[in-house]
Amino acid sequence: MELDIDNIAEYYKRMSNQELIRVSTQDARGLRPEVFEIIEKEIKKRNLNPDLLKGALAQNKEYSIEELEKYSSKLRDLACPICGQIGQQLNGTVAHSIRSFLIVTTVRTEPFIACPQCLDKKNNIALITSALLGWWGIPWGILRTPTYLYRNIKAKSHNHMDSPNETLLSFTLSNIGEIETYGDDKSKMNKLIQLKD
Ligand SMILES: [Zn+2]
Repeated sequence: MELDIDNIAEYYKRMSNQELIRVSTQDARGLRPEVFEIIEKEIKKRNLNPDLLKGALAQNKEYSIEELEKYSSKLRDLACPICGQIGQQLNGTVAHSIRSFLIVTTVRTEPFIACPQCLDKKNNIALITSALLGWWGIPWGILRTPTYLYRNIKAKSHNHMDSPNETLLSFTLSNIGEIETYGDDKSKMNKLIQLKD
């Protein structure tokens, strides 16, 4: 059933500010075009940051690599969220780890945004964990551990790139609403790249 526009407007009207901000910056992908007018109205009525609307619209655009690189520069200049150092261009990695115990094998895939040295450390931890604990499961531990080792080695080869790597660009795209709305607010951007766990 398609909701009619009055119902949608009513729904947005009842949202708390916090919820409206969350939807505008993180959850606006694929909204119907009319809904943006409703969001705009609510933002004005509540005196919220007008850039929230830009954030909502940004989630519904297509970007070239160059455009994403430009957005990612808002993240690259930040202090490393792991070691705190400033002045190194941040990048992204994915740490792949696998652990087994008898017939149970668990895998974990975690993205990180940090300075190249800290990214290496994250991949090294995943490598060591997988090398020590991955194998001991039948059959998945034995079959899948080499893949997990390889994925970390491959990820490490992109940690020291001068340009934003694929992991950083895909993080940028997934968080484009927040970057569009709050890109110049360092404390908000710092929070965005903090580890989620
Ligand atoms: Zn660091």
